[in-house]
Amino acid sequence: MPRHTVRRMLIQSRHPDKTACSHRLTSSGKPRDPESGCAGRGDYLARCTTCTWSSTGSPRTSLEYAWSTHACADHQETLS
Ligand SMILES: [Zn+2]
Ligand SMILES: [Zn+2]
Repeated sequence: MPRHTVRRMLIQSRHPDKTACSHRLTSSGKPRDPESGCAGRGDYLARCTTCTWSSTGSPRTSLEYAWSTHACADHQETLS
């Protein structure tokens, strides 16, 4: 499998109301600090560092799959 060092997926947790969550979360998506006012993780926002691709949803693995198969210039080189 070809290695790419530049193209990456950025992923961010979002609250159930779709606002970005920058709180510390447990692996199950619950707020680590109950005093933080955090509602926990509702879903994820994922973006590609190479093109304008972005996607939201859950679980994380489905976003990683969508990212790995989306069409950006790098993929067109490796998949065609
Ligand atoms: Zn939060
Ligand atoms: Zn891309």
